[in-house]
Amino acid sequence: MTKSEFDIVVIGGGSGGLVVAAGAAHLGARVALVEKKALGGDCLFTGCVPSKALIRSARFAADLRRAADFGFAPAHFEFNNGSFASVTDRIRRVIETVGEHDAPEVFRALSIDVIIGTPRFTSPRELEVTPIEGSEEKYAGAQMLRSKRFCISTGSRPAIPPVEGLKEAGFITNEEVFTLKKLPSSLLVLGGGPIGLELSQSFARFGSEVTIVEMGDRLLPKEDEESSNAIERILRAEGLKVLLNAKAVRAGQANDHKTLTVEENGEIRELHAEEILVATGRKPNVEGLNLEVAGVQYDKQRIVTDEYLRSSAPHIFAAGDVTGHFEAGDRRRFNRRRSRWRTHPRNRTGNERAPSRHDPRQHDSRLPDTHAGQPEGGVGCGAVEARFVQETSFLLLPLVAVARRQRPVRRKATSLSALLIE
Ligand SMILES: Cc1cc2nc3c(=O)[nH]c(=O)nc-3n(C[C@H](O)[C@H](O)[C@H](O)COP(=O)(O)OP(=O)(O)OC[C@H]3O[C@@H](n4cnc5c(N)ncnc54)[C@H](O)[C@@H]3O)c2cc1C
Repeated sequence: MTKSEFDIVVIGGGSGGLVVAAGAAHLGARVALVEKKALGGDCLFTGCVPSKALIRSARFAADLRRAADFGFAPAHFEFNNGSFASVTDRIRRVIETVGEHDAPEVFRALSIDVIIGTPRFTSPRELEVTPIEGSEEKYAGAQMLRSKRFCISTGSRPAIPPVEGLKEAGFITNEEVFTLKKLPSSLLVLGGGPIGLELSQSFARFGSEVTIVEMGDRLLPKEDEESSNAIERILRAEGLKVLLNAKAVRAGQANDHKTLTVEENGEIRELHAEEILVATGRKPNVEGLNLEVAGVQYDKQRIVTDEYLRSSAPHIFAAGDVTGHFEAGDRRRFNRRRSRWRTHPRNRTGNERAPSRHDPRQHDSRLPDTHAGQPEGGVGCGAVEARFVQETSFLLLPLVAVARRQRPVRRKATSLSALLIE
């Protein structure tokens, strides 16, 4: 077995791992990057990139329907060659183009040792990597990587709710939806979070009959209520059906369609559709890593990390979805922490400095938090988080009422949050 020594070994070559590996290499560290499939991860293959490409096609279709509004003769669209595959073929081409930036050669050129294989800890400082059968790896056998530090960034995968019969009836998730060759004539979407909504709106714009089934009492439950209500209104106006307080209890198959029994506000209802899309949250990829041997604590939602992204083993860090900070959740959690900091009596007397942008702790408050449907966006603290801050008032304005360069008016309040809804 080959043995090598590194300053840091990064496990998982998705958005998180690639940034950590490249950053460490730029600082002069000896870096190994271990990936079990292909560099690029969820974002490149089954997340941000394909979904934004899908949304772009869907937006084009929606705009075409409004041709007359923009001064063109009314138009209607047909898929190229009459097949939805023309849309997913474009998605594949976009992935290939963007994927050039994530190619192994790009990272090898930074002196990073890119290793495709299946890793498992054999001790807190040793990782054994077994080559994947059939891969064109230059390493023939297993390798032992010894390192001062590790970063686990193995990402997440769809969490499937325990709905009776769902597995047997069949369903798709973000892992299959971007390769569909045929547009489902009707689609039941489980989950009214950001992923469920952007996919729902896109498929409705392509012509699917879409019903969103959300267990909570509003869409985008992590957002401010005003945003949820606005999104719901827009989706309904575009022809989507939205069921709230609706829990899926049973799925089945009848002839050429699928059935879903939901309990909506205490009443049982049966829904029918050609396909079911599940977007009900994510779970961390921790299986097979032998984290117990490394002393890394984890639970069903995440690898447990502190605010420096350090795990329970001080030399092992975790970054990205595997820490349970899935997308928008990140920024909101940080804002809440920051808000709590502000309201702490000691901090209000100025004895301690606020978290600054030079603070190495994980903070995401300056990240725009985008929901990629239409409307999209959200930057900074929203009303939900601002509840943690005293003396806050809100100014709610429709976006059209905000002239460019105009600043929100500050009145009495120590902090003002403007929630802009298109
Ligand atoms: C439909 C959808 C749309 C999204 N849109 C956006 C968006 O617009 N903007 C945005 O910011 N985020 C978006 N996200 C979220 C974004 O994709 C993730 O937050 C991001 O990919 C997380 O990066 P990561 O590095 O943590 O994990 P990943 O990108 O999933 O990378 C993990 C990598 O680890 C590898 N791996 C897993 N297990 C092992 C193992 N045992 N050993 C070795 N390697 C392993 C995987 O193969 C993968 O390559 C979207 C997600 C989805 C599902």
